Amino acid sequence: MSLCFSVSENAFNLRYGFRDSEPMGQSLKIRVKTRTRKGFCPSKVVCVDYPRPNIDNTSNFLEAAYLSSSFRTSPRPSKPLKVVIAGAGLAGLSTAKYLADAGHKPLLLEARDVLGGKIAAWKDGDGDWYETGLHIFFGAYPSIQNLFGELGINDRLQWKEHSMIFAMPNKPGEFSRFDFPEVLPAPLNGILAILRNNEMLTWPEKVKFAIGLLPAIIGGQAYVEAQDGLTVQEWMRKQGVPDRVTTEVFIAMSKALNFINPDELSMQCILIALNRFLQEKHGSKMAFLDGNPPERLCLPIVEHIQSLGGEVRLNSRVQKIELNDDGTVKNFLLTNGNVIDGDAYVFATPVDILKLQLPENWKEMAYFKRLEKLVGVPVINIHIWFDRKLKNTYDHLLFSRSPLLSVYADMSLTCKEYYNPNQSMLELVFAPAEEWISCSDSEIIDATMKELAKLFPDEISADQSKAKIVKYHVVKTPRSVYKTIPNCEPCRPLQRSPVEGFYLAGDYTKQKYLASMEGAVLSGKLCAQAIVQDYVLLAARGKGRLAEASMCP
Ligand SMILES: Cc1cc2nc3c(=O)[nH]c(=O)nc-3n(C[C@H](O)[C@H](O)[C@H](O)COP(=O)(O)OP(=O)(O)OC[C@H]3O[C@@H](n4cnc5c(N)ncnc54)[C@H](O)[C@@H]3O)c2cc1C
Repeated sequence: MSLCFSVSENAFNLRYGFRDSEPMGQSLKIRVKTRTRKGFCPSKVVCVDYPRPNIDNTSNFLEAAYLSSSFRTSPRPSKPLKVVIAGAGLAGLSTAKYLADAGHKPLLLEARDVLGGKIAAWKDGDGDWYETGLHIFFGAYPSIQNLFGELGINDRLQWKEHSMIFAMPNKPGEFSRFDFPEVLPAPLNGILAILRNNEMLTWPEKVKFAIGLLPAIIGGQAYVEAQDGLTVQEWMRKQGVPDRVTTEVFIAMSKALNFINPDELSMQCILIALNRFLQEKHGSKMAFLDGNPPERLCLPIVEHIQSLGGEVRLNSRVQKIELNDDGTVKNFLLTNGNVIDGDAYVFATPVDILKLQLPENWKEMAYFKRLEKLVGVPVINIHIWFDRKLKNTYDHLLFSRSPLLSVYADMSLTCKEYYNPNQSMLELVFAPAEEWISCSDSEIIDATMKELAKLFPDEISADQSKAKIVKYHVVKTPRSVYKTIPNCEPCRPLQRSPVEGFYLAGDYTKQKYLASMEGAVLSGKLCAQAIVQDYVLLAARGKGRLAEASMCP
C-alpha cells in the first residue's frame, strides 16, 4: 500500500485555533496559580512557546547544512540508482530523502501500517493520539534542525524556556530548576545554570564534580571516547565525585538518555550529551513537535521523497535477504511474497531485527559479529488522560526523579495538537522497564499512579480519590534503542558494510550523536552519502545484472 493521506496546514491550524501568521503560543496563554509552599516558588502553568533559537550559525549546524546541500548539488546520475530500503523510521526516511535529493530513486519498505518506527503514533477511537515515546528535540540536533528547515516545517517545533526542571523526591510536589541565562554564551550559560541551583547539589559537590570533569574539558573528544569502558557510577567514583551527585542528577539523566541507571550506562554517553549541551548556547534548549509525529514530521519527508520520484510502501515487511552466489544481495523477499530487487540495499531496521535477518554466511564476518553486543533496551511509554487540569506542572519536559519513571510532560500544555484547557494528558516514560515489560497494562498504571501521587500530592492519589483517570494507553517497546553499556562503541557499524551494495542506517550505526532522533537522521545521511560515493560501482553492478538477465534463455 502506498501512502496517500495528508493533513492540510490550514485545517490543522484552524482546528487548534492558530492563524498562519500568528506566532506560536500567543493564543495559548493560560495562567494557573498553585498554592505557595514555604521556600518554594509556586509553579505557574504558563503556556507560551519561545522563538526558534538562533542555531543556524553553529559549526555543527553549518556542517550538517553542508552535507545536505552536497546531495542537492551533486552531479545528476546518468542512470539513477534504485535503492531498496527496509524500515521507515527516521533513519530509513532520512536515507531515502537524501538519496532522492541526489537524484536517485529510493523505494522505502515499512513493515507496519504506520510511519516513524520509534516515533510512530496511533489515533484511538476518540481521536486522541498515543505515541511510542515522549520525544524532545534539542537545539544541539543539527541534522534534525536542518531537516525541518529543508522541509519548510520549522514552525512545527514548539520551543520551551531554556531550563531543565527536576522534581524533588524528598519534597513531594516541588521542583528544582536549572535556568540557562539568555544573555551569556556557552559554556558560561550552562555553568551559571549549575552554579545558581543550590537545591540539588551543595557547593562542595559542585566543586568536586567540576574538578572531575576537568580531564573531559581538557582532553576533548579523545578523552570522551576513552571513557566508554566505564559506567557512569564507576567514572564518578574514579574521579572522586560524591555518590550523591550521581543520585541527585545522573540517575535522572541516565534514564532520560538511555532508559537505564548509572550503574549500567557508559560514561561516554553522558559526556557526549554534556559536551553538546555545554558547547552550544542553545544546545540544551528543548522543543516539542506540535502534533503527532507520523503526520507532522514523517509525512512531509514522504511527500518530499515522492515529489522527487521515490516511493514509500507501508505493510511491506522484509522477510528474507536473498543472496547471489557471490554473497551479495540478490533481492529482498517480503512476507507478502513480493520479491524486490534494486541496485543497492539498505537495512534501516532496529539492530535486533537486523540480527534476526542476517543471512547465515554473513554472520561470521567481524562487521556483523560485533553487532551481538548491541541489544535493544526495554522501555514503556504511558499516556494518562485525567478528568481535570493538573496544576502542579510546567509547560515543559520534567525529570520525575522517581524510581519507576523517567521524564514526563503534560502534553495538553506542551503540544498544540494535544492542547486541552480542561483536562491534562500526562505522557510518561517508564524506565528502567526490564522488570515491568511483561506486566499487564493495569499493573503498570497502578504503579505509575503511586509515583504520580508523589509528584502531584495535592491533586493525585493512587486510589483516584482525587484526579480520576478518564483513560490510558500503554505502549511497550521491548527492544528500543541499543543499551549503551560500556564498550559498545567499537561494535557500532559504519553505514557501508563489507558486502558490496549492502548498507546500514539506524541510530545504532556509527555517528557522533547518541542513539536518538538526531543519530537516526544523521545515520541516514551518512548512509546516503556512502551510496552516492559508491555510484560508479553500484551502477556497474546494475549493468552486470541486466546483462546477465538478458543472457538467460
Ligand atoms: C520511549 C522513547 C522515548 C524516546 N525519546 C527520545 C527523545 O526524547 N529524543 C530523541 O532524540 N530520541 C528519543 N528516542 C529515541 C528515538 O526514537 C530513536 O533513536 C529513533 O527514532 C530511532 O530511529 P531509527 O530509524 O534508527 O529506528 P526505528 O525508529 O526503530 O525504525 C525502524 C523501522 O524499521 C521497521 N522495520 C522493522 N523490521 C522491518 C522489516 N523486516 N521490514 C521493513 N521494515 C521493518 C520498523 O517498523 C520501524 O519503522 C526515544 C525512544 C523511545 C522508545
